[in-house]
Amino acid sequence: MIREEDRTSGERVLTGVAVSKGIAIGRAHVLKSRDVSVAHRHLGPADVPGEVDRFLRAVDQSIQQLQHLREKLTEDHEDPLSILEAHQVMLRDELLTSGTIRRIEEERINAEWATLKTTDQILQVFSHIDDEYFRQRRSDVQFVSDRILRNLVGQGDLSVHAPPDAVVVARDFSPADVVQLQRCAVAGFVSEVGGLTSHSALVARAFELPMVVGIEQVWSQIDKDSFVVVDAHEGTVLVDPVPQTIAQYRSRARDLMVLERSLLQDRQLPAETTDGVRVILLANIELADEAQTALEHGAEGIGLYRTEYFYMSRSTFPTEEELIEDLQSVVLTMTNRPVTFRTFDLGGDKAAQLFRLHPSPNPALGLRSTRLALEHRDVFKTQLRAMIRSVNGGKLRLMFPMISDVSELRAARSILDEATIELEHEGFTMPSQIAVGIMIEMPSATILADDLAKECDFFSIGSNDLIQYALAIDRSNEHVAHLYRPLHPAIIRMTKNVVEAAHDGGLRVSVCGAMAGEPLYALVLLGIGVDELSMPPAALPPVRRAIRQISYEKAAAMADELVRLPTLLDIQQALARFVETEYEHESVTISEPGVRLPWKHRPVGRKSSN
Ligand code: PEP
Ligand code: MG
Repeated sequence: MIREEDRTSGERVLTGVAVSKGIAIGRAHVLKSRDVSVAHRHLGPADVPGEVDRFLRAVDQSIQQLQHLREKLTEDHEDPLSILEAHQVMLRDELLTSGTIRRIEEERINAEWATLKTTDQILQVFSHIDDEYFRQRRSDVQFVSDRILRNLVGQGDLSVHAPPDAVVVARDFSPADVVQLQRCAVAGFVSEVGGLTSHSALVARAFELPMVVGIEQVWSQIDKDSFVVVDAHEGTVLVDPVPQTIAQYRSRARDLMVLERSLLQDRQLPAETTDGVRVILLANIELADEAQTALEHGAEGIGLYRTEYFYMSRSTFPTEEELIEDLQSVVLTMTNRPVTFRTFDLGGDKAAQLFRLHPSPNPALGLRSTRLALEHRDVFKTQLRAMIRSVNGGKLRLMFPMISDVSELRAARSILDEATIELEHEGFTMPSQIAVGIMIEMPSATILADDLAKECDFFSIGSNDLIQYALAIDRSNEHVAHLYRPLHPAIIRMTKNVVEAAHDGGLRVSVCGAMAGEPLYALVLLGIGVDELSMPPAALPPVRRAIRQISYEKAAAMADELVRLPTLLDIQQALARFVETEYEHESVTISEPGVRLPWKHRPVGRKSSN
């Protein structure tokens, strides 16, 4: 960490939560109306009335959309959200509407530009009022203005852009935004909204791009083009840092790179404990391109291909052939290593525009994942057919996400059976083997694990969702991020139950949630008896080293103790004792909220014992 006394005036420190580790140094690119790219045009006098009409039509459309949303909520026996009503009122408001029309007429600028200027002016007025209520209203003005802008430019263009090496600042990033922005070669992300396992954070981690979330009103705290340092180890963002601070962070970034390189040297070594127990280390990927990165980090296969990303930034459903091409490229890159396709897990925080889902006040509990797939059988079957065909007669491993019970598993399997029968009739080469797994990510599935084990071939624990649903903590909500605890006694015991049920039924079990990629948690999972760990590629090297430095016997004894402890604090303290005794103090620390744990890394250059 950079020392406090080094921070002199002019430099501001904003504190949030680090959700994708790393250090980013660069200029801020603030996405104000993040969904809309707006043209600035001057108008000729004759164009003014038409432009005012265009603006009024966009306002009307916005009011209608909100009305539709309110009616839908009423139909579903929900109270109409007063916030929607408030936004409708704002749309009719003098300040915003008449203010914009005046600009179009007097400044002769196009409607989008005029809307932006009026919005900025209103936001400025609000920013001088130091009151929580008015701070909240700022986001409402932004929301309403974004809606008008989206209607002005047409709903189609949802793309976002930023200059290379920029630190992108926004209220919120959708997973698709992160994917698009990494293609622009940005350096990192800072947002107000988000959580440790929100899908945007997972994508940022997959691309090894630092991300800090949970900074209130961040877009108004960082000016466009100001210099920033994102410390996504500490969860801080330094705005306008002094040269010494920048130098310190550059040197820290270099140290981390050296450590990373040293860890990468071991990538071909097995993740084997000192007493010879082998854990299979696999990678999680969101896009086919990442398979190469997985190999470079020493993945023994793909434990989770989140195939839904292929659907996310499209305006039409992919065809069977398009899906095959994508899936096949992963299989080919991984040569003979296992590849686990997860059927699409859309909905929740993974926007599923293609399905035209109605906005849900509670998306994590709404129509998502396998339930959504079961309501769109044709789309689901197309994907299953593509999966079967993509392995070209080889072994197929696929898993269904968010299975709650045996009947849901059977329903999903029946569509897989239909797809298999169809393809056989059509004369396609069938896979030499089809292994069907399920993700255990709902508390109901942990209780029914023994029955579920009888009807599938493997389990993969989705700890991100399991923690969300078991502890009632929205994984994307920054306000409860501190309560999102993988070491919670209930999570430890649920995991143990699932592992026992799997092993009793002769199944192997993996963990593919973010927990698997944290060395400390990986040790606990090893001790509990998990057979495989699947994680973002960059997490593989440190987890490999952690496993190679411990005996399974000791990890299992530690886990036995943990499953009996009643509180999170007891568990943290027991783990801290374990790490203190088993690992030497060295320079890398990993932290578990409440307890800082020493962590050991092999000094650069020393040869591994194996
Ligand atoms: C999980 O829930 O742990 C998981 C791996 O699935 P996702 O993060 O994609 O929901
Ligand atoms: Mg999940």
